[in-house]
Amino acid sequence: MTETVRTWRHIPQRYNLIGSKCLQCGNVFFPLRIICPECRSKGKLENIKLSGHGKIYTYSVINTPTDEFKVIAPYAVAIVKLDEGARLTTQIVDCELDDIEIGDEVEMVFRKIREQGEDGVISYGFKFKLKK
Ligand SMILES: [Zn+2]
Repeated sequence: MTETVRTWRHIPQRYNLIGSKCLQCGNVFFPLRIICPECRSKGKLENIKLSGHGKIYTYSVINTPTDEFKVIAPYAVAIVKLDEGARLTTQIVDCELDDIEIGDEVEMVFRKIREQGEDGVISYGFKFKLKK
């Protein structure tokens, strides 16, 4: 059961989408950075809580994933541009794949990522769904 405990302990951090904001150039990044990818400044990044709302920047449908994700194929993976400006790669859930369009508004949801073995150790993390 130690695995389960470890997984759950990480939930607050995952559930709250935390990014880095550069105090020098104002850009926001996810996941956390130590050096700003935009202006290269060091030590000027502060953690900010991201809203979890954004738009689909681009996406693709995965038909032939690795074994681990075969059961959910086909599924959509998108690059979402958050309202704060950061971009992240995420799965789009709870919709028909045909309904997804570039520019669609999306929001973060908290979902099961995978289940391991008969003990049912479950890992959770964020995914995104369409707002429409
Ligand atoms: Zn910067």
